[in-house]
Amino acid sequence: MSRTFAATLLLLATPLFAQSLDERVQRELPSLLDTYKALHAAPELSTQEVKTSAFLAKRLRELGYEVTENFGKYQDGTTCYGVVAILKNGDGPVVLVRSDMDGLPVTEATGLPYASQNTGVMHACGHDVHMTTLLGTAKLLEDLKSQWRGTVMLIGQPAEEIVKGAQGMLDGGLYEKFARPDYAIALHDWAVLEAGKIGYRANAFMAATDSLNLVIRGVGGHGAAPHTTKDPVVLAAETVLALQTIVSRERPPLEPAVITVGKIDGGTKRNIIPDEVRLYLTVRTFSPAVRKRILESIQRVPKGLALAAGIPEDRAPVYEHLPHESVDATFNDAALTARLATAIGRELGKANVVEIEPAMVSEDFGRFGDGGKIPTVMLALGAGEATAVAAGTQPGLHSSKFAPADPSLVLRTGVRAAVSAVVDLLKR
Ligand SMILES: [Zn+2]
Ligand SMILES: [Zn+2]
Repeated sequence: MSRTFAATLLLLATPLFAQSLDERVQRELPSLLDTYKALHAAPELSTQEVKTSAFLAKRLRELGYEVTENFGKYQDGTTCYGVVAILKNGDGPVVLVRSDMDGLPVTEATGLPYASQNTGVMHACGHDVHMTTLLGTAKLLEDLKSQWRGTVMLIGQPAEEIVKGAQGMLDGGLYEKFARPDYAIALHDWAVLEAGKIGYRANAFMAATDSLNLVIRGVGGHGAAPHTTKDPVVLAAETVLALQTIVSRERPPLEPAVITVGKIDGGTKRNIIPDEVRLYLTVRTFSPAVRKRILESIQRVPKGLALAAGIPEDRAPVYEHLPHESVDATFNDAALTARLATAIGRELGKANVVEIEPAMVSEDFGRFGDGGKIPTVMLALGAGEATAVAAGTQPGLHSSKFAPADPSLVLRTGVRAAVSAVVDLLKR
């Protein structure tokens, strides 16, 4: 058998769609890579996605989508930079595909030639990958219109990192003004999964987040005369340690939970005992019962410690729960998860679509499910470097050193996965 003949046979054996989709994606890759690098270099913080959203909107408009910018409404009146891009292609279901847009307050330490130009801000969570994947998906869905029917609704969501943007867009009337989706899907890059793979997890996938502040109040005075004060710094230190005992002693051992004090704020000078210290907490749980118990304990324990320290009752610790920066656990609809894993497996090969463990990180993507009424699935897009993942040295999401080692492969996989998922849901 001649080599050409063998190659022809192989081509004929490959499903036409799979072959042409990957070829098409590869044609787009050089320009997608440029887009990714430009986005990576210019991150903006949550609720400040002015230029990012304008860029995304412009590109989607150029691709022929009907685009609305600055869409959404926050409770406090801040501008919501949501982007909605619609492509109608006859009668059929509506599929929402979401990318987030915000960066993080992290000083980049990747050393990449396209590292952040905005000091102290970084795309450390890969939302630059998500936006680029969304643009690639937009282009391919436009090109492959003959293979699907229905409506594609692409979302550029602001303020994911403070779990505020999805609600902002829904409060702005997303489903009333545009369309109510039949399915909502999203990809999130996954540092502990190697590039080239897609991960899926049915049901509980990501944890609930509660954002809390604790104001530990004391009675300030001279640092050399602590006996005349009630020192909130010492009390805050005790509180930080005691909070960990809630996780180790009050939580059922088989139910995951995390309490992290990520920021402490207090004092002005080394020889002044301040009046108060502020603790900034994030709490992660899956089970609603565990969540309730832990939040109650976070109110009880600091009060008890303050009492023991002799803090007057009117200076008891203040507990602030931030409802707009808190979110329920992310659940993936089981049937939709299975359907998408199968469709993507046909495109990428079964071995490249793997079941993964749930994670304690959180997302507000689940809000697009309207309280479980619309099936939603968030899939994991492998972004790790295989040897580093195996050795446990791969920098994780939110790390100053995180960036996909092979962005081309990540983007190529992401676009193939998203397009094959949407085309499966809107198949003619
Ligand atoms: Zn993040
Ligand atoms: Zn993220």
